[in-house]
Amino acid sequence: CGIVGYVGPTVSSRAQGVVMEGLARLEYRGYDSAGIALVADDAIAIRKRAGKLANLLADIDAHPLPASRTAIGHTRWATHGGPTDTNAHPHLGGPDGKLALIHNGIIENFHALRTELSADGVAFASETDTEVVAHLLARAYDGDLTAAMRTVVARLEGAFTLLAVHADQPGVVVGARRNSPLVVGLGDGENFLGSDVAAFIGYTREALELEQDQIVTITPDRVDVIGFDGDPAQGKAFHVDWDA
Ligand code: GLU
Repeated sequence: CGIVGYVGPTVSSRAQGVVMEGLARLEYRGYDSAGIALVADDAIAIRKRAGKLANLLADIDAHPLPASRTAIGHTRWATHGGPTDTNAHPHLGGPDGKLALIHNGIIENFHALRTELSADGVAFASETDTEVVAHLLARAYDGDLTAAMRTVVARLEGAFTLLAVHADQPGVVVGARRNSPLVVGLGDGENFLGSDVAAFIGYTREALELEQDQIVTITPDRVDVIGFDGDPAQGKAFHVDWDA
């Protein structure tokens, strides 16, 4: 499974292009479904398909996605819920679907969280462990996606790399990691996230490896890292010198 995130300065086709190229470069990891979400016109545009990346590409060709500054993409290796279009990531959160989330790993306590959310009237679209996190994030969101992520990771058990975007905060991608990798690609007026550097190697060689229990917020010109405890933190900077 693979994860890609991108945020750039102008509304264009670049966000989609970067994420789709990143997913193609992560193909070697193996997957059973793929999907992408973009923030456009104060809403989330989403497309996801079981099967090979070619299925997703054909769908996007037939029904183009809007231009955007911000996108996240995922290739899934199903652990909870079969490899179907509906179970593919991203997953939407909130009654208005304004939040989109991708996840690598397993949320061990998802069953208890799902029971709690269901009892509170939340309707689930998929059978995944991931979707509980999308709804928790949407409910915790109060104008600050980083703060919402901090609140929610405190409730999660297991292994996860998470990336989220919110329609009301275009130009921001928030990531978090525990027991699962997440790397930041440092661009010039644009920034990248990936489950490994292959996700953005076509665009930058300067990278930052997140450490255990950290949250990162990227905008076109900033990369801010905090610990799950909220304290300012730093990743480990490195230069990618292998040939891509
Ligand atoms: N556990 C999640 C699912 O089954 C994520 C799997 C993955 O890492 O791709 O949807």
